[in-house]
Amino acid sequence: MTSYLFSGGRVLDPRRADLIEGLDVLVEGRRIKEVSDRPIAATGAERIDLAGKVLMPGLIDCHVHVVAALVDLAANALAPSSLAALRAARILRQLLMRGFTTVRDAGGADHGLVRAIDDGLVDGPRLIISGKALSQTGGHGDSRARSNDREMSFSERVGALCRLVDGVDAVRKAAREEIKAGAQFIKIMANGGVASPNDPINALGFSREEIRAVVEEAENAGTYVAAHLYTDQAIARAVECGVHSLEHCNLIEAPTARRAAEAGAIAVPTLVTYEALALEGKNLGLGPESVAKIDVVRNRGLASLEIMQSAGLPMAFGSDLLGPLQRYHGMEWEIRTRVLAPADVIASATLVGAKLCRLEGLVGTIAANAFADLLIVDGDPYRDIRLLQDDGAHMTAIMKDGVFYKRA
Ligand SMILES: [Zn+2]
Repeated sequence: MTSYLFSGGRVLDPRRADLIEGLDVLVEGRRIKEVSDRPIAATGAERIDLAGKVLMPGLIDCHVHVVAALVDLAANALAPSSLAALRAARILRQLLMRGFTTVRDAGGADHGLVRAIDDGLVDGPRLIISGKALSQTGGHGDSRARSNDREMSFSERVGALCRLVDGVDAVRKAAREEIKAGAQFIKIMANGGVASPNDPINALGFSREEIRAVVEEAENAGTYVAAHLYTDQAIARAVECGVHSLEHCNLIEAPTARRAAEAGAIAVPTLVTYEALALEGKNLGLGPESVAKIDVVRNRGLASLEIMQSAGLPMAFGSDLLGPLQRYHGMEWEIRTRVLAPADVIASATLVGAKLCRLEGLVGTIAANAFADLLIVDGDPYRDIRLLQDDGAHMTAIMKDGVFYKRA
């Protein structure tokens, strides 16, 4: 078994708001074997001198779409599956090389991609999937033009983020199918969206009965529902129906945030996607209906972070970037730290993310028995969050599962 001993630097443990000097971290195989404030004697281990650098846990993004190689989601869904899978492989590698060692896919990725990573066929983060997101006809997952009334379920295509499904029985069956196919949680589109042509932001997606049915199916399988949500009304309804993971939440109000916190929900803001769409969406094929909707959610982004923070609603790190806009990934750090402390933002991408991925204690932490997902960073990210930006440029090493994917 390959083992490594990291020593001689500082360690960022997201449970603490300052760096720890003088810790030794021993990795054996896939896992962290031991963390100690005294020198660890590990004769067979390769010694890695941190030499003044900072060792921190690999990062977690809880809202990505690894099959979204294009901003135009209708075109993306129609791409040949072989092409869509190979495009996803490139996106997965890019995520890993930015220091994200775990990502939660919120619609699109299938079990084949999970297997490809686990089998070492593709370099990518640990991948937690929802399978295809469920959308009602005319909802956020319905990318058909208004005049296109052809039946399309999209669910067979690797490049499709969603499948269309209507009615209590049908959503139950769809949820069961996704779980059978390997989904680790279920994603639903419970509100209008930006990148879809026919649904205003304030439209509610699915009936309460449909949402409750999906929640029951997810709970029967030991998991939870994540819902795409913007408006306060939609978020309040989703929480009432038992939805656990609240995606986006740009237009949330304080009373709803407090109720969500009481219910034990976790929010996943994704502010960078609206900045990136505003900058480039139009040139990348986003239709005029969509462009007109961007600012409705973009302008409330920072206020939503403050509302959720003071309500005590935990926030995970998310990005939700489509296609070439993924190069703006690092901007999410900078946007969040305009209103939140760097330590809170780092906790969102480690501790909170681990909880939402149901991998608490296993990822997002430097502790014995956790997976050896580790980054060596050029300085202190608590003092300079930009060290986590620029596509991994300030990371001299990236390790996932005890394997180096980057080592300067
Ligand atoms: Zn999304």
